[in-house]
Order: sequence, then C-alpha cells, then structure tokens
Amino acid sequence: PVRVRDVVRRFPSPDGADRIVLRGIDLEIGAGEIVALLGPSGCGKSTLLRLVSGLDRADAGEVAIDGEAVAPVDQRCAVAFQEPRLLPWRTIERNVELGLPRGTDRRAGRERVAELLRLVQLDHARALRPRQVSGGMAQRTSLARALARNPGVLLLDEPFGALDALTRLTMQDLLLEVHAAEPATILLVTHDVDEALQLADRIVLLGADGGEPGATIRRVLEVDKPRPRDRTDAELA
Ligand code: ATP
Ligand code: MG
Repeated sequence: PVRVRDVVRRFPSPDGADRIVLRGIDLEIGAGEIVALLGPSGCGKSTLLRLVSGLDRADAGEVAIDGEAVAPVDQRCAVAFQEPRLLPWRTIERNVELGLPRGTDRRAGRERVAELLRLVQLDHARALRPRQVSGGMAQRTSLARALARNPGVLLLDEPFGALDALTRLTMQDLLLEVHAAEPATILLVTHDVDEALQLADRIVLLGADGGEPGATIRRVLEVDKPRPRDRTDAELA
C-alpha cells in the first residue's frame, strides 16, 4: 500500500516568498486499489503524483510504499506523465522497451514489449519514431512503457486526456483488463469524472478550501463501480 502522511509541498515564487501548493495531504491507497485524483487545474495533482513516485520530495510529511520511504527513482513505481516524454530518436518499440525492469532477459523483454504493443494497439507503429505518430499513439506508447516495468505502483497523470472519446473508452477498458491480470496499486489523475467513476475504487477531490493557502483533500468518495464496464446496447451499437 501507498501511504501519504501530512505532506506539504512549497515552491519558491518569483517574489522570493515560498508558495504553498499542497498542505496536510493524508492518503492511503491499499494494494491493488485504484484511486482517482480530481481537482481544478493547478491545484497540485501532478505535484502530488510526483511526490508519490519519488521524483520530487515533500517539504514535510512522509510518503511510503509498503512502509518504506520512496526513493528518488523508485523502481517500485512507474509513471505515465501528462505529456508522453518519449525519446525522439528511438522507435516506439524501443521507447516501450525502456520501461522494462533492469536486468530483464533480452528474449523475455522482447516478448513482453510485443505483448504490450498489441495491448495498446500499436503493433503496426512499432518501427515509427515519436514524431511520426499521433498524440494519442504517443500517449499509448507512454502507457505501455509504464506497464513494461510491471510496477507495484502505477502513477498515471491524465493518461487518456489527449485521446478521442472512443479510443479513451478502449483504453479505460484496457487498463481495467491489465489491472485484473496484474493488479497494481494505481493513482490516476484525471479531469474526466466519468473516467474516475468507471475506473476508480475511490475518488479523491483535491482543492483549496479558501482558508489557508495550498490545496488539501476536500473529499473522498467511495465508488460502487460496475466492473467490467456495463455496456448498454446503445454503446455497443
Ligand atoms: P493541471 O490539472 O493543469 O495539470 P495540476 O493540478 O496537475 O494542474 P500542478 O502541476 O501540480 O497542478 O501544479 C500545482 C501548482 O504548483 C501550480 O501553481 C504550479 O505552478 C506550481 N508548480 C508545480 N511545479 C512547480 C515547480 N517545479 N516550481 C514552481 N512551481 C511549481
Ligand atoms: Mg497536472
């Protein structure tokens, strides 16, 4: 499980004074649980995600996975960022390969990458470079790269934000399939309430409460979700 305890994050502002972005964040995510993080733009969702991944450090409080503090590049986590951040000179296939855990056997690695490319429907694009694919394809590549790590904790920052509505539904189903097969603990930042309801066990609403500066957890909603997706005939038509 992921445990975030009384976390504070400040950033220096141009006038020299620190600006509090997050304060008093307390959150526990059970093993295999999917938690969606919602809140207005700029409230600190990506910042919180980076703290959980170990890519950034809290100014106060603790972030731990399975009782152990997160490390700067924590091998227990995989992140898919808001922007795909692919290496431009590498093919789609080689970009996904970068996600494989260190020391993966070459043959097993190749098979895993091929499987993931099929999963995110990028089989046909394996030999292309990032500049030759669409934004949605780049995002799927980034998701496949994160999945390649086979992480205990998967951190997804608006992973489907740039996708068309139909591809987004497909990707959401895919994420649930992957999760059913390999249940990682997932923290998912999204602006899409339907997506949160569809995917998450709990929805955490982040925001300012008008009093002190900085965002905190405003509400936590338990989701009684239909899973797998209950498709209506209209949806399937
Ligand atoms: P969005 O929904 O638009 O992605 P967000 O909730 O992910 O927004 P963050 O990216 O976490 O928002 O940013 C929260 C606040 O922290 C913003 O005001 C941003 O300017 C500030 N911030 C984030 N990173 C830094 C940084 N490295 N240095 C200074 N300020 C930062
Ligand atoms: Mg963000």
